[in-house]
Amino acid sequence: MSLKGIILRHNKNTAQMPSEPLPLPNKVSIPMQQSIGAPCDVLVKKGDKVLVGQKIGDSDKYMSVPVHSSVSGTVTGISELLLVSGKVCKCVDIETDGEQKVIDGIKPPVVTDRDSFCRAIKESGCCGLGGAGFPTHVKFGFDDKKFSVDTLIINAAECEPYLTGDHREMLENTDSIFEGIAHIKKNLGIENVYIGIEKNKPDAIKLLSEKAAQQGGIKVVPLKEKYPQGAEKVLVYNITGRIVKEGKIPADEGVIVINVSTCGFIGDYMRTGMPLVSRRMTVSGDAVKKPCNVIVPLGTSFKKVLKFAECDFDGMEKAIAGGPMMGIDLFDLHDPVCKTHSGVLAFKKKNKEKEPLQTNCIRCGRCIEACPVGLMPTVLEKAFDNKDRETLKKMKVSLCMNCGSCTYVCPAKRNLAEKNQLAKALLRT
Ligand code: SF4
Ligand code: SF4
Repeated sequence: MSLKGIILRHNKNTAQMPSEPLPLPNKVSIPMQQSIGAPCDVLVKKGDKVLVGQKIGDSDKYMSVPVHSSVSGTVTGISELLLVSGKVCKCVDIETDGEQKVIDGIKPPVVTDRDSFCRAIKESGCCGLGGAGFPTHVKFGFDDKKFSVDTLIINAAECEPYLTGDHREMLENTDSIFEGIAHIKKNLGIENVYIGIEKNKPDAIKLLSEKAAQQGGIKVVPLKEKYPQGAEKVLVYNITGRIVKEGKIPADEGVIVINVSTCGFIGDYMRTGMPLVSRRMTVSGDAVKKPCNVIVPLGTSFKKVLKFAECDFDGMEKAIAGGPMMGIDLFDLHDPVCKTHSGVLAFKKKNKEKEPLQTNCIRCGRCIEACPVGLMPTVLEKAFDNKDRETLKKMKVSLCMNCGSCTYVCPAKRNLAEKNQLAKALLRT
């Protein structure tokens, strides 16, 4: 595998904007599923008083993380939210009381070994903050008879255009990131640590390199500005030269990858015991008058966040939760911000007449050139259209990481990445 990928305009106009706390909303709606694990059962009912950090959702499934209240206030009801997967998840609706009282008993967890560390991380409600939402305790709880892990990679590439939350995390929460690394190293017995940062963040590279030099065993790796540099398999290859094969995970190659903001949260949690109740996110796009980075209580509506950034709702055509390449179109701005939302982008209406229409494939090969994992998107598209499962399997559609590079470069405007997602779903049925 070589990193092909594409060069994108970064549009990281919020990189030098320090994070601001979002004014407390008067209500939040907190989903019971905010990771890729099993949904939680609701632990509260209408009329209950809740406090910041109180557990309001939990599950007995290992592949799940609990959910905590981001505010103090009163539960006004249990509503339902339609997820992009088409499933419906329960949400706890809370009217805030403005006091932000924290529940008693918040204190640093007692950790003595890997098991107690993984239990503490699960209790914190931690999942990957980069967008994937993989439960962090599951990643740390690898079977050490099966996997021999010797390397930790901190993913600070942040290769999606517009997003700068990880960049701000590195500048504003540096010590917590290194505390998080120290806890992971100690409890998982990992020797080598690499922090991979794209070269478009020179201040973060400089700051973290200086800190790393004081610690030992931690190396900052400046990475080419090429999308999708932050994709897990691409990052593992570019930093260690190890190839994570089809159907395998980085631990098969002795590597654990975690996002830099997740690492910063772990440092904070181990020092304070406050579970995951808010997150840093970027608000940007040409429909936003005041692009910014904000710290948002989980469960706040996207509308409230966009309003804070002075979004022109009338002139806006669409909003995206996440980055422009891998983010999800928002159909309802009242949807709540979850643990996986690294940003929200709002874009103005475009002149549709000037937009090129989709045409037949002209066999230019640009999609193949762009694909970071060496797939042939044009062949996969044809196979999907013909519902040809054998070819889809043979051409390894399961390796597609949905990075969107093929769609982006296609002069015929074919929906290649989207078809691959549908093709993977087809193979699962
Ligand atoms: S979306 Fe899939 S097929 Fe397209 S470039 Fe990315 S990995 Fe390759
Ligand atoms: S980039 Fe588009 S036009 Fe070119 S080969 Fe791929 S699908 Fe065809």
